[in-house]
Amino acid sequence: MTRVVRCPSCKVEVHFEGNPCRPFCSERCRLIDLGAWADERYRIPGAKLEDETEGEDDDPGEGSV
Ligand SMILES: [Zn+2]
Repeated sequence: MTRVVRCPSCKVEVHFEGNPCRPFCSERCRLIDLGAWADERYRIPGAKLEDETEGEDDDPGEGSV
């Protein structure tokens, strides 16, 4: 019997048995998913601040010349 799961990252069907990267299809997808997860965790407290800083930095009104 072969169990098939869907890779959470790219949604491709992969065999669960004998797959070292399960439930992902490959090491790459595993890292992508882990990265996205960590990224979201880090983004919640810092996203707004970073966004505001970038906007201000882009403003040409101050500091030109
Ligand atoms: Zn995948």
